Amino acid sequence: MNSNDNNWKCAKCDMPLVKKKTLFTYLGHNITYEVSRCPKCGSVFIPKELAEGKMAEVEAQLEDK
Ligand SMILES: [Zn+2]
Repeated sequence: MNSNDNNWKCAKCDMPLVKKKTLFTYLGHNITYEVSRCPKCGSVFIPKELAEGKMAEVEAQLEDK
């Protein structure tokens, strides 16, 4: 039981995070994205790629009118 494919941990609980598909609303758009979530306290950790990449894509689409 030493799965190392996800080294993210909840800083509060020291629990390894589990991936969960989560629905976001961003600028009026619904986005489903797999994020890491603490199984204990339920905190969701937004990966950098989502914060900087996916969101930028959405913004780009919105501006492309
Ligand atoms: Zn936690």
